[in-house]
Amino acid sequence: MAMSTASTSRAWIELNGAALRRNAHRITAAINPGTRLLPMVKANAYGLGVEGAVAALSPTDPWGYGVATVPEGVELRGLGVDQPILVFTPIDPTEVAIALAHRLTLCISSLAELEELANQTVNGGHASFHVEIDTGMGRAGFDCLDAAAWAKDVRRIAASVGLDWQGCFTHFHSADHLDGAESILSQWKAFEDAVEMLSLESDSMLIHVANSAAVLRCPTVAADMVRPGIFLYGGSAGTGLADPEPVASLKARVTLVRDVPEGATVGYGALHVATTPQRWATLPIGYGDGLPVALGNRGSALLRGSRVPMVGRISMDMTVVDISGVPAVETGDVATLIGSDGPEEICLGEVAELADTIDYEILTRLGSRLPRVWRTDVDA
Ligand SMILES: *Cc1c(COP(=O)(O)O)cnc(C)c1O
Repeated sequence: MAMSTASTSRAWIELNGAALRRNAHRITAAINPGTRLLPMVKANAYGLGVEGAVAALSPTDPWGYGVATVPEGVELRGLGVDQPILVFTPIDPTEVAIALAHRLTLCISSLAELEELANQTVNGGHASFHVEIDTGMGRAGFDCLDAAAWAKDVRRIAASVGLDWQGCFTHFHSADHLDGAESILSQWKAFEDAVEMLSLESDSMLIHVANSAAVLRCPTVAADMVRPGIFLYGGSAGTGLADPEPVASLKARVTLVRDVPEGATVGYGALHVATTPQRWATLPIGYGDGLPVALGNRGSALLRGSRVPMVGRISMDMTVVDISGVPAVETGDVATLIGSDGPEEICLGEVAELADTIDYEILTRLGSRLPRVWRTDVDA
């Protein structure tokens, strides 16, 4: 199989675990010392690679981890994660048994789901669940206004097989907005009112509500645990919030350099025509690796500390840059498509903006073809 150098022979993602950890520490520094971290590592840790992300996060002593799907939870168990793993989307009944077998904690949005969990919990099994309360996100959760009604049934079904109702949470819809504080506080109020209606006998119930943006914008809603995602991975949490340290750089090695005459065309549709003789470099990375097609003729790469423009349409596997301004570029040089090179930087936000999307989407679309290379030569 691949030799040790092969991971950086074509295109790859370089990851800085120490930066990820520092971002986590900035989250915990913003909240009460007793508040626990529940990092969201869904979608392969936002595309960066869950194994490396968990390795980087484990010194921060997280209470547990958040995933979206049962297979993601199973993968974490396979990596040796022993903490609680919460599955944050409603799941199909056919997945309950495997979730239980791997001690995954389901987030419950309906009595039907809870009944399914109860039916499939083998006697003596100690399954826990968390209840999602919908305060306006509208995609999952019990209705916050109706809490007194469903709480009775939740308690009854849980008691029937000894399920442990371990936590309650909600999710904010506009914490990333510049004026998000108002909506955070109004959802928080609706959530608190609902929790009040549950008439919980003990205070052992874990309460968690805050994503990255909510932690940074309203640290007072940190409750028992916080659920940061994007900020950990170097993506912007929202308008007007402090930027995290970048974690991921996208790199590709120049594999071809050519001098082309005036009139030469490049890419599907021949959307770029050389108006003078030019020097072009081919980068072995394309939309098949998650590079947005929208960067064609608009995006840049960094080579030898300089910015060079992408020319023509992005192909599935290749992208061409005009290196006429940096003629010393040779095959084997490393181009940076996200990240810094000398004085120049292409930040994640720049790429997201050009592609008319959000940092989250750029990261999670980074392809499985790209090796994730966790740097160990950076300060811890
Ligand atoms: C993804 C997710 C988060 C993390 O959100 P970020 O904006 O990435 O910090 C938190 N809670 C839930 C329920 C999520 O689905």
